[in-house]
Amino acid sequence: MNRRPFDPRLLRRVPAARRDLAVLAVLGGLTALLVVAQATALATLLATALDGRLHRPALAGFVLAVAARALVSWAQGTVAARAAATVKATLRADLLRAVGRHGPTWVAGQRAGQLATLTGRGLDALDPYFTGYLPQLVLSVTVPLAVLARIVLADWSSALIIALTIPLIPVFGALLGWQAQAATERQWRRLSLLGGHFLDMVAGLPTLRAFGRARAQVDVVRRMADGHRQATMKTLRIAFLSALVLELVATLSVALVAVPVGIRLLSGGITLSTALLVLLLTPEAYLPLRAAGSRFHASMEGLTALDEALTLSATPAAAAPAGTPQPAPDGHGEIRFEGVTVEYERTTALRDVTLTIRPGERVAVIGPSGAGKSTLLNLLLGFVTPTAGRVTVDGVDLAGVDLDAWRRQLAWVPQRAHLFAGSLADNIRLGASDAPDPALARAVRDAALDEVVAALPDGLATVLGERGHGLSSGQRQRVALARAFLRDAPLVLLDEPTARLDTASEAIVLAATRRLVAGRTALLVAHRPALLEDADRILRVEDGRVTELTPAPAGKGS
Ligand code: ADP
Ligand code: MG
Repeated sequence: MNRRPFDPRLLRRVPAARRDLAVLAVLGGLTALLVVAQATALATLLATALDGRLHRPALAGFVLAVAARALVSWAQGTVAARAAATVKATLRADLLRAVGRHGPTWVAGQRAGQLATLTGRGLDALDPYFTGYLPQLVLSVTVPLAVLARIVLADWSSALIIALTIPLIPVFGALLGWQAQAATERQWRRLSLLGGHFLDMVAGLPTLRAFGRARAQVDVVRRMADGHRQATMKTLRIAFLSALVLELVATLSVALVAVPVGIRLLSGGITLSTALLVLLLTPEAYLPLRAAGSRFHASMEGLTALDEALTLSATPAAAAPAGTPQPAPDGHGEIRFEGVTVEYERTTALRDVTLTIRPGERVAVIGPSGAGKSTLLNLLLGFVTPTAGRVTVDGVDLAGVDLDAWRRQLAWVPQRAHLFAGSLADNIRLGASDAPDPALARAVRDAALDEVVAALPDGLATVLGERGHGLSSGQRQRVALARAFLRDAPLVLLDEPTARLDTASEAIVLAATRRLVAGRTALLVAHRPALLEDADRILRVEDGRVTELTPAPAGKGS
């Protein structure tokens, strides 16, 4: 985790925030000058008041300094809030762009959760960092410097004591911060463990109930929650303790300055106005450092979110095609996998796969789950790139082509079609947004969706809920097929289109699938024998290796 109080990547990646941060620095310098001016005026005012006189210029200066400080402090708040808003907006846009650049296989598992959290509320944790911590951080540099400079002029021995003791605050702060950080990280780990276990348990509650294990699980959760509670208490103890220690260091340092000044004042070694100035200014030197220290804990979460966002949005795309992309090959071309290996972080999904798919061939792909079947399709979709080897269409390497143009040549029916909130017609037009109504009607008929449309209250204009809420899984698959029909692409990729369906809907979807693949090049991941019936070839994928099964009855394809 990144624990630097300021991440320099911010300036490079969010140029729009540079000006605000510069203004923040200038305002910090201004505050420091005003602190000194205010104390100087007050010291003069008090010293003359003890003589029974009213020093009018000093009074005016004091009032002016106080008013100006209020104004500057307001400006600081405004500029900091604007910087926070700019940074959050930029990072959210960057993250979404990164999602678009990397494609769906990148947004999986843990990263999906991370992205959802960050683009949602996660980055809001930057608010306390920008509006609370960062302005204090600036002040903790400018104010001690200005105060020291002023005291050196008035009384160098006091200045020496301050110069020697001030570094103690950041040093102690850092020492305690390390402790707190270790404890916080332990706490986070426990929390995510607890969250994961709890999620598992809730999902499996019926099973646990049925096997009489629910009670035992309650005890496990209670034990884990207890561990988390103890970790939290420890973090809090460290946080409180560090506030106390810093307070103590600052108070003792002020006393180290004040006591000699008092003694010298009694013996006449220092004038009253100088003594007052030193006594008024000294605490001001320690104040911003302590304030920054106490706000550091509150902005830790923001810093972590910032680090994650900067790192995630900067991850380079798996294999960014070099130079300008080539024009996409025709979807009617011959597809070749040449020694293709695909490695994910922990697994090798495909090993040295070589195969040729001729135009118009209908190829069925079978094999156990996790064998690498979907990866085979994802390669053609351009969602994953080969770790070794290449995929070519008519001799053109897919790694170098304009993927958007290439994807226009294909239609994809996934295992579980994703429907978006919107009308049914819009959902079917997903891949062919300007298809005319007659074409839409034909696609609906081809996908055996017409009786579904007839039963809907507003027909094709019916608005579906999120994720196609309101349609059964069989109906949703038929919407996906209708999309593919409407797209009318030369190459179709189907990934277990009937896997989740009951027998009745399976028969309907199967018939529609047959109509779809007729006359096109098709790669069909099949888990049911019924899907194999009119395949020209059958490939078996097992543990990342592809073997050709006995060719289907001769006469077709090869
Ligand atoms: P199939 O479709 O045959 O069930 P996949 O092609 O989806 O198999 O997956 C092959 C292997 O690659 C599996 O072990 C799977 O866990 C792994 N895998 C698939 N997608 C990813 C991914 N995005 N990140 C990491 N591992 C993955
Ligand atoms: Mg799969």
